[in-house]
Amino acid sequence: MKFNYCCTICSKTYDITPDLTVCPECSKGQLADQPLIGVLEVELHGKVNPSFEILDLLPIEREYFPPIPVGNSPLWEPANLRRDTGFINLFIKDDGSNPTASFKDRASFLVSAAAKKFNINDITLASTGNAGSSMAGIGAAAGQNIILFLPKTAPTAKLVQALQYGATVYRVDGNYDRAYDLSMEFSRQKGGMNRNTAYNPLTIEGKKTVSLELFKQLKKPIDVLFVSVGDGCILAGIYKGFKDLKKLGLIAKIPKIIGVQAETSDALTRAFLTGKFTNIPTSTVADSICVDVPRNGIHALAQLKEYGGEMLTVSDDEIIQAQAKLSSSTGLFTEPAGAAAFAGFQKAAPGLDPDAVVVILTTGNGLKDSTSATLGIEVPERLINTIDDIEVP
Ligand SMILES: *Cc1c(COP(=O)(O)O)cnc(C)c1O
Repeated sequence: MKFNYCCTICSKTYDITPDLTVCPECSKGQLADQPLIGVLEVELHGKVNPSFEILDLLPIEREYFPPIPVGNSPLWEPANLRRDTGFINLFIKDDGSNPTASFKDRASFLVSAAAKKFNINDITLASTGNAGSSMAGIGAAAGQNIILFLPKTAPTAKLVQALQYGATVYRVDGNYDRAYDLSMEFSRQKGGMNRNTAYNPLTIEGKKTVSLELFKQLKKPIDVLFVSVGDGCILAGIYKGFKDLKKLGLIAKIPKIIGVQAETSDALTRAFLTGKFTNIPTSTVADSICVDVPRNGIHALAQLKEYGGEMLTVSDDEIIQAQAKLSSSTGLFTEPAGAAAFAGFQKAAPGLDPDAVVVILTTGNGLKDSTSATLGIEVPERLINTIDDIEVP
């Protein structure tokens, strides 16, 4: 298998080197706090048979990957939900089962391997929380130094995780965009590798592994896949995986992908509808998809248009209700951003064929943000001392 970078705008190709991030030509007009122009995508050339190994489709040799079991997340067949919804071919791909409990491990794993290959020991990034705690955990397994810029609003569990793993954490008095700018400035001054989402092309490439796994686990074509969207990097990674499978002749068509955003953080959905990116301050209970400027917006939008994808939004209330519904009917407790994908499915379900093969991607574990999760349940106020204190209804 051979690999190179290809610009998603001008199609110019480049060798994969650690200092190349976005297309040097197309990124000349890049303004601060705007979606990235000239995101690079990995191009693969070669042949495999259907029993390929996933690491063989990644552009870094396997000996560089750290000893931590990323991916291979379980595919759930939720019997109660299938019965309740009437969707007999409903599946949930639970990426909260990754080592640091979020989907972001797929990207961190490949970035860590690339840093190892190119003898780089410092990896810097900005994160709303999961990418940071992920890179910290994967970096711990690899013996790398992780420097993390985290907005002050990040849920405590994600901050604690990153610190447990031994990362250097700078808490930023501002939002993710501010953290992003500071991390870029830090990288310019101090060097090392930068793992910022989409800016480092290997983040999208690492995320493609979910599609490769689904191909192996399902053994039948997917009709519709639901995923929550912030920067649009997971969305593009999913497309990349299916595009590779198609190029290799292993699937005939790219599934329909429905990206789900919070009503109050819907930058990519607005751009999908209007063709223009506008910067509006956001807030949502789903912190992992709370993004003013979708860094991979331009590329993600192009993929949606090319492959017939769609975007839809759900309210915070719908997310919180969906989270509790999913927990109590399946035993799968996912964080609000993960539940958003399920909320999106619930919203779209009336327009879908109940026989369709539907996959919902849950992207993070519910314990990552237990504070938000309390909104969807009633925590008993009254304490009891004896069994007699229990009111018999
Ligand atoms: C990062 C993240 C997302 C969104 O991914 P983008 O690439 O930013 O679109 C969704 N869910 C969880 C749990 C995440 O951590």
